[in-house]
Amino acid sequence: MAAAHRPTPELPEHLRALYDRFPFDRSVADDPISGVRQFRSDPKAAEVAGIFAATLAIGNTTSIRGAFAELVRRADGDLVTNLVDAAPRERRRRLEGFRHRWIRADQMAYLACRLHEQYATGGTLETAFAAGLRVGGFAAGLDALATVLRGPDPADAPPGYRVLFPSPLDGPESACKRMTLFVRWMVRTEPPDLGIWTTVPASELRIPLDQHTYWIAYHLGLTSRRTRSWRTVEEVTAALQLVDALDPVKYDFVLCHTGISGDCPKHRDLAVCGPCVVRPDCRLWRGRRAA
Ligand code: SF4
Repeated sequence: MAAAHRPTPELPEHLRALYDRFPFDRSVADDPISGVRQFRSDPKAAEVAGIFAATLAIGNTTSIRGAFAELVRRADGDLVTNLVDAAPRERRRRLEGFRHRWIRADQMAYLACRLHEQYATGGTLETAFAAGLRVGGFAAGLDALATVLRGPDPADAPPGYRVLFPSPLDGPESACKRMTLFVRWMVRTEPPDLGIWTTVPASELRIPLDQHTYWIAYHLGLTSRRTRSWRTVEEVTAALQLVDALDPVKYDFVLCHTGISGDCPKHRDLAVCGPCVVRPDCRLWRGRRAA
């Protein structure tokens, strides 16, 4: 059996160099978080915008940004007043015909209803997540968040709604990428994240493992798993905790957008890979020299 690929001992320095040189302005403008950041001055509006945008985070970044912008347009720029706190009939009117991939208007209306009910109890999505976190760690926090968003009665939810909010406690198959992404946006204080939630430490975060982040994590030796499961999330996060225990997902945005932007061709290309700062750690260059 071939030995597992491991990054070099210099990986932390290489990741720091990647981060320091990264063109954040270019990639933030391309990322769905750019739409959420316009609400960051109001914690409730930011939380609401974040969960809608994260729920829509299926497909490429252009289509996700477009779907979220369409949602904001339909709410006249105020998702809290005109969707979350609106009467059911008004929600339906504003959302009629909305669609992004397989996500439909009735599912968005039901999400708005779930949010309204959570805020009506005096709670927030932060209080729901933090309560779960205190009891059983990050996975339990996500489970508590999923429970609030799914609602109390499966029979009430529109078809296909509940699967939009997976929990790691359902089983290890899902990486729960959109849920972990939402929590990262809310918790980390360093841009591009919003730092809205103050009761959840960044050290507790888990990596939002999309296809780009997984590809590079695997090729840097942060995991040897061949599927994007919750176990892979935990393994990649554990490897990144060795790099930065207080902020293990610090490099998530950079690793993800290295793939999205095409900065990494995902194959050996001397012209691109030659100056790549993580090339010494990259599985594709194991035992090879760029010269
Ligand atoms: S060396 Fe090339 S393939 Fe490997 S991570 Fe860097 S750019 Fe991507």
